[in-house]
Amino acid sequence: MGNRVTITTLAGGVGAAKFIRGLVRRIPQKNLTVIVNTGDDEYFYGLHVSPDLDTVTYTLAGVVNPTTGWGRAHETFHALEALGQFYGKPWFNLGDRDLATHLYRTERLRSGLSLVEVTREIAQKLGVKARVLPMSNDRVHTHVKLRGRPPLPFQQYFVKGGARGAVEAIELRGVEAARPAQGVLEAITEATGVILAPSNPFVSLGPILALNGVREALSTVRSRVVAISPIVGGKSVKGPADAMMRGLGHEVSPRGVARLYQNLIGVLILDQVDRHYADSIEQLGIKPVIADTIMATPAKAARLADVVLAAIDG
Ligand code: GDP
Repeated sequence: MGNRVTITTLAGGVGAAKFIRGLVRRIPQKNLTVIVNTGDDEYFYGLHVSPDLDTVTYTLAGVVNPTTGWGRAHETFHALEALGQFYGKPWFNLGDRDLATHLYRTERLRSGLSLVEVTREIAQKLGVKARVLPMSNDRVHTHVKLRGRPPLPFQQYFVKGGARGAVEAIELRGVEAARPAQGVLEAITEATGVILAPSNPFVSLGPILALNGVREALSTVRSRVVAISPIVGGKSVKGPADAMMRGLGHEVSPRGVARLYQNLIGVLILDQVDRHYADSIEQLGIKPVIADTIMATPAKAARLADVVLAAIDG
């Protein structure tokens, strides 16, 4: 593999970025396209914040906060503290360095550039060689419906509400009218391999998969599409993917993940602790590959990337 391959990864935020950090130890960034969820985008203080785009971009630029996996390293929060005096106690963390990105994005969007163009500029200015592609230039706004409550915009559910509560439904508002950004479908059909990162299947990859033409594009190249299960040993490694699967009536296992991605993927990487699911995943027409999928270090993420790249090759 190495220099010859082109890889397209469908990504949410932190889980995906952990994997990408390993992947770019194995393939040159210039051979990588990352198609990123924008359903979590939100406006704060009049600024356009794209949490998943920033997590992926900061990771590729080597400036991400290594402890949280999101936001920038060596961050301070003076501006947010001052904003709190005007708006009340903030619930969404925006660091001083991070704010520069949101200011720049917002100003460039206002001057008429598309989100794709602004994202390209930000990535270039931060020294990223990979192509970071927002899934769409159009607004898709993910809402989460909890039992007994009206649907909440994703960040209110996730950050303000701490991702608590029984999830009854996910709404991807605007997705029917949204078009995949230019280059998204080609990046899927023309790559040597496509990777569905270990991201939340409903709120991170769900919005990308729901865009017109994306499922069809994946199904036409299915044999070279590899997903990594975000569910390990009956729960998500982090975050609410397990609770969402349960709430929405899916089995919380790699087999449940395989069913969600059936007809879209040729290979599912599942953790070694879940090896007993391999046969039933194979019966779904998906090749199971067993690996250590816990990316505790960048070196471990790179070893997982080796497994994924070998699965694409084979
Ligand atoms: P995030 O909420 O911003 O982190 O967005 P993502 O959707 O990209 O990532 C969350 C998903 O990644 C969760 O479902 C986790 O279970 C999964 N995840 C995080 N770290 C790991 C890991 O080391 N291994 C595996 N297999 N999955 C992981």
